[in-house]
Amino acid sequence: MAWGLKMPEIKFTKLFINGSFVDAVSGKTFATTDPRSGEVITMVAEGEKDDVDLAVKAAREAFDHGQWPRMSGFQRGQIMIKFADLIDQHIEELATLDSLEVGKLFSHNKLADIPSATRMLRYFAGAADKIHGETLKMGGPFHGYTLKEPIGVVGHIIPWNFPTVMFFFKVSPALAAGCAMVVKPAEQSSLSALYYAFLAKQAGIPDGVLNVVTGFGPTAGAAIASHMDINQVSFTGSTEVGRLIMEAAARSNLKPVSLELGGKSPLIIFDDADINMAVKLAQRAVFYNKGEVCVAASRIYVQEGIYDDFMKKAVETVGDWIVGDPFDPHVHQGPQVVDKEQFEKVLRYIEHGKREGATIVAGGKPCGENGYYIEPTIFVDVKEDMVIAKEEIFGPVMSLMKFKTMEEAIEKANNTRYGLAAGVVTKNLDIANRMARSIHAGSIWINCYFAFDSDCPFGGFKMSGFGKDLGMHSIEKYLQVKSVVTRLHDSPWL
Ligand code: ADP
Repeated sequence: MAWGLKMPEIKFTKLFINGSFVDAVSGKTFATTDPRSGEVITMVAEGEKDDVDLAVKAAREAFDHGQWPRMSGFQRGQIMIKFADLIDQHIEELATLDSLEVGKLFSHNKLADIPSATRMLRYFAGAADKIHGETLKMGGPFHGYTLKEPIGVVGHIIPWNFPTVMFFFKVSPALAAGCAMVVKPAEQSSLSALYYAFLAKQAGIPDGVLNVVTGFGPTAGAAIASHMDINQVSFTGSTEVGRLIMEAAARSNLKPVSLELGGKSPLIIFDDADINMAVKLAQRAVFYNKGEVCVAASRIYVQEGIYDDFMKKAVETVGDWIVGDPFDPHVHQGPQVVDKEQFEKVLRYIEHGKREGATIVAGGKPCGENGYYIEPTIFVDVKEDMVIAKEEIFGPVMSLMKFKTMEEAIEKANNTRYGLAAGVVTKNLDIANRMARSIHAGSIWINCYFAFDSDCPFGGFKMSGFGKDLGMHSIEKYLQVKSVVTRLHDSPWL
């Protein structure tokens, strides 16, 4: 292994159901691989419908009869804080697992992803004892109030690009609300989720509250989406699979779903921008995490007055963006995920862009001797109707386009079926405010990008989905509102 790191002992590879690590009912396992080399790291239990049934049974018992939803919010919060403390103590091992399985930068896992996950746990721990209803002003002689109750057993289906962050996007508010849950990590990134389940138990989260079923989407994932005893499903992943989840929920028990799906987010850079800052921001907004980010700024619009300069500087500085081993602290971009399939998909998009007439001014090829590495790539001469300007590439591919006026920028920004995020770079407050109100997207970042925070709700508009993660809004999807009415005194109203 590069960078003097010993291959860690992989401690947890079985399903975590009702507080114990168990084999899949079928006994099946599947390989999880290292994208630096394509080699197998270890075999992981392959959960399917029968295993989901067992996990849901445990979660139902924990929810219907167990302590978790019945203890005070303060007590739940204390346990969640302990969970966060335990994660801090195991940060090296956890950061290693996400780098090994998905090629994410070790330093980022350690300094950004895992600390942001523990912040989420602590933020929602603080919210657990502040969940309350309202007193109602009723017309008749009644005293009315609402209760906010945990919705029940929830299913979380998560993707591979941010295994830790996505796990806690879903798990933290659901724990705070008092729900029990079944988590299905993506098949490419199972290991940290199993480790988190182990730490949850150490922290005192009762058996059955947090179950992890590793396995594939069409089997384990589909069993969660269609399960009659799951009360809500929270999903992050592709728009195609989001549609399947919603269909399965509709056909089974009409459970509510929340979907955080694909994006084709614009970054709009106006003439008055500090060009060096804008180039740096754009580079990060597209290439960060190898472009495997649902909010990646995969459409960059630059106003005509600075377009040529911007392009020149973007090409000049692309070499500063170092591709290599994710354990090397100097590297900006690790191997293109996970598997050959994703690697080939990104290369196909690059070929498609060339065929449609866009011009590559930087990168465009695989790099390195082994593994799934792709050069940071910049396309110019990109037209709105080209596939690379419309579809989510999920790779390190920047598409540069030009605009003249603010009105044109708004129209172009909104010319997509997605609406996850957008960035605006300008010093002009009027432009910034007008852009923020005119773009149809769930997050607008002005003179910044990827500005996530536990308190800042995140989720899409249009075909990027619905329902928020993070912020106090996200607890609401794990709660249901009950109205309670008491007759105040004798009256004709019975
Ligand atoms: P990506 O294209 O980023 O891999 P997917 O939407 O395919 O995203 O996967 C996101 C998550 O959805 C993963 O955990 C995956 O296993 C799961 N998944 C895939 N297909 C289905 C399905 N038919 N039903 C439920 N979950 C699924």
